[in-house]
Amino acid sequence: MAPDLQSNRCRKIIDAAYAGKYGVAAMCCYNLEGIIATVRAAEAKRSPVLIQLFPWAIEYADGLLVHAAAEAAQKATVPVAVHMDHAQSPEIIKIAADMGGFDGIMVDMSHYEKEENMRLSKELVQYCNARGIITEVEPGRINGSEDGISDTINLDEVLTTPEQAEEFTALGIDFLAPAFGNVHGQYGPRGPELDFARLESITKAVGDRVRLVLHGAHEEHFKEELIRKVISLGIAKLNINGHMNVEYTRVQAKLAGKAPLTTVIEEATSAMQKAIEQLMDWMQSSGKA
Ligand SMILES: [Zn+2]
Repeated sequence: MAPDLQSNRCRKIIDAAYAGKYGVAAMCCYNLEGIIATVRAAEAKRSPVLIQLFPWAIEYADGLLVHAAAEAAQKATVPVAVHMDHAQSPEIIKIAADMGGFDGIMVDMSHYEKEENMRLSKELVQYCNARGIITEVEPGRINGSEDGISDTINLDEVLTTPEQAEEFTALGIDFLAPAFGNVHGQYGPRGPELDFARLESITKAVGDRVRLVLHGAHEEHFKEELIRKVISLGIAKLNINGHMNVEYTRVQAKLAGKAPLTTVIEEATSAMQKAIEQLMDWMQSSGKA
C-alpha cells in the first residue's frame, strides 16, 4: 500500500502555515549546534520549524547529522520536520530516501534543461513518495551559490513561468521553489530585484495545490518587511541559511582560543537560537505550534 502523504509532518507544517497566512523557517544546519539551536528556538517560541540539511551533511558526517536531526525532531515538543535541501543527483536522492530520517527532499534537477528536469523530477518524486517522503522542485533556475550547492553556479538564471509551475505541479510535487529574481548568496550592489508580479501569478496558478518556497533569503536584505511581503504573496516555507550561520562563525571568531571550548560551543548555539527566534517573530510562526 502506498504511504499516506497527508500525514507527512513536513507537509502538515507547511500546509498549516499557508492556511494561517504565516511562514515557517527551514533552517539550513551544518552542525549539531545548528540543529540544537533550531529546536530550542522552536520550543521557546512555540513555533513549528524545519531542520534542513544539504547532501553535504550525509557525505561529510556519514549520515550522523541526519540521524541527529531526526531524533531532535522526534523529541521536540512542537512540530519539527527534517527536509533535504538541493539534492542534485538521482543517486543522492535515492540514498537520502532510503536511509530514513527525511520527511521531505528537494529534487533539484534545475541544472538540466527543462525537459530533462521534468523527466528526472517525475521519476524521483515517485521514488520519494513511495517511501512516504514529500518533494520540492525548482522549475526554472535560481542563480548564485551557497555553501553546500555547487552545480548551478555557472549556469544562467531562468525565471519560472506560471505555465512551468503548472507542469511541475502535475508531477505530484508538494513544494515548488519559484525563480523570480531571487538568488542564492550575495545579491548585487542594487540588492534584490524581485519580480513580485511573477510570484503573484505563480501563486494564482498553482497556490491552491502546492506550497511555495523562498530560496535566496540573504540576511542583509530579508528582514521583517521583505519577509512579510513574500509571505503575503503566497510563500509559506522560507529557506534560511545566513541569518543563523553567520552567528556561529561570528561567535567562533570572537571566542576561539580565548574561552573554554564548551563556552565557545554554548555561546554559538545561543547566538544562533536568538537569530532564529527573531525570524519566527518576523514570519509570525511564533505561538502557532
Ligand atoms: Zn536554495
